[in-house]
Amino acid sequence: MTLSLFTSHRQRQLEALLAISRALTSRLELPSLLRTILAYAAEMVQAEAGFVALTTRDGRLRLAVGYGLPSRVFEALAPYLAQIDVRENLWNEAELRKQLEIASEGSQYPLNQVIALPLMLEDEEVVGGIFLFRSGSRGFTAGDRTLLRDFADQAAIAVRNARQVEQLREAKARVEAIIENSPNGVMILDPHLRVETINRALSDLVGVSPEEARGKRCSEVLKLENVTGEHLCLEQGSPPPPTGIWYGEGDIVRPGHKRVTVGATYSPLFDRYGNLANIIVTLTDITRYREAEELKSTFISVISHELKTPVSLIKGYASTLAREDAPLNKELVRESARIIEEESDRLNELINNLLDASRIQAGALTLDMEPISIVRVARTAIERYRTQTDKHRFLLDFPPDLPLVLGDEKRLRQVFDNLIHNAIKYSPNGGVIRVGARKEDDSVVVFVSDEGIGIPLEEQENIFERFYRIDSSLRRSAQGAGLGLFLVKAIIEAHGGRIWLDSEPDQGTTFYFSLPIDDKAPPASS
Ligand code: ATP
Ligand code: MG
Repeated sequence: MTLSLFTSHRQRQLEALLAISRALTSRLELPSLLRTILAYAAEMVQAEAGFVALTTRDGRLRLAVGYGLPSRVFEALAPYLAQIDVRENLWNEAELRKQLEIASEGSQYPLNQVIALPLMLEDEEVVGGIFLFRSGSRGFTAGDRTLLRDFADQAAIAVRNARQVEQLREAKARVEAIIENSPNGVMILDPHLRVETINRALSDLVGVSPEEARGKRCSEVLKLENVTGEHLCLEQGSPPPPTGIWYGEGDIVRPGHKRVTVGATYSPLFDRYGNLANIIVTLTDITRYREAEELKSTFISVISHELKTPVSLIKGYASTLAREDAPLNKELVRESARIIEEESDRLNELINNLLDASRIQAGALTLDMEPISIVRVARTAIERYRTQTDKHRFLLDFPPDLPLVLGDEKRLRQVFDNLIHNAIKYSPNGGVIRVGARKEDDSVVVFVSDEGIGIPLEEQENIFERFYRIDSSLRRSAQGAGLGLFLVKAIIEAHGGRIWLDSEPDQGTTFYFSLPIDDKAPPASS
């Protein structure tokens, strides 16, 4: 009897150890591994209920799986277990039993026998514990304990391995999430330059989904134009993969999308035998740097051109006046002085525009707001320009009851000056220039229209950009730095208004802008 009992014990022990070894080598997930451990442990010592708790990072025990476990049992033990820090001391079976007794008072079959063993590694690290319970008066024996201890040692190793696998998986998922959510485009290539994965940012940049990209040659996914520097993903025969980090730049051009300039870094990754394992391609959007660079060079060429003309005119007339041998009549002196004055004004205006542009850039455009009669400002501006042209006819078109607006008079004069000056400049054959306004809801909408060369639809958005001038022979002959409309738009927007236009090539252009009505003032009489 004793012998057969012993044999069946041994048998169960062997079976349990074998099952754990199998679990160790098979790739069990942690939860199912824990369930297997608990089931075998309970079976070995004929426990009716139990649980496995795992050690958290801060040394506390957390219930991982339970078996036949009435919630009142765990509830009774939880507070006691929660205050244990396994790095300092372990639980005490006598205490556990006492807690169980309190919890099961009055119940018919109280689970009052307990055996609780740590899942301990060779270095004494406690990865958790197995807690088993039985009802009745038959306690767990020393044999049960020995049996379970061997088992627990095996189980601890299995738990550690499963946990490591889990941690690896988590770390991998974290890295993948970081790559996926990176604002830079990332593409991972195999050694044959075929795409393994691309992240969302790269997919957005090139307009190819990650599924479509997978397995394609990298030159099919990343198509670059105007390339400079070192590149790997080239259509006409890619160079051998890099052994160090490569960098190049290029444009991604997609129909219906704005051109994006990117900087591409190619970093090879080697395995521990020195074989090329992957190439990581990182794309950074450098469009803004490029634009800033282009702007800088436009600035220099425009400004030098715009400065040269007045300066050479001033110098020419001044030196004529200075020549001792020149026959100076009154007429010539007056004409020279007039041109010198005009050109100096132009220089002054250009300098002021530049200063304003840089103020706007720095966000330092301040307005001095007061109630203003827009009719008066428009009329003053027109009077100034009327004397400068005899080809153009000016018409004022203001209703008599136009309300006052809230604005900065000096700045609004600048707006009219620029729009009227453009209207004259870009209608070389003359025509009517109409300036007027209408009240619309709580704003006044002002317009300046001409019968000039007009602005093609595709350019209408660009003309408000700094230094932007439409490229055509006529326009090139008209002087300008491309700053006027940029300033006008900034001023109108600083007033809380909006600017837009309506134009047709060879028919003419109307610019409109809105300004908020001064709601505290009575209607103006012009
Ligand atoms: P600046 O005003 O600095 O002296 P500019 O007149 O060239 O130079 P903007 O006033 O900003 O610059 O105008 C930008 C471009 O828009 C002009 O170069 C011109 O090509 C176009 N443009 C502006 N107003 C008109 C208009 N009324 N008719 C036709 N084209 C216009
Ligand atoms: Mg202009």
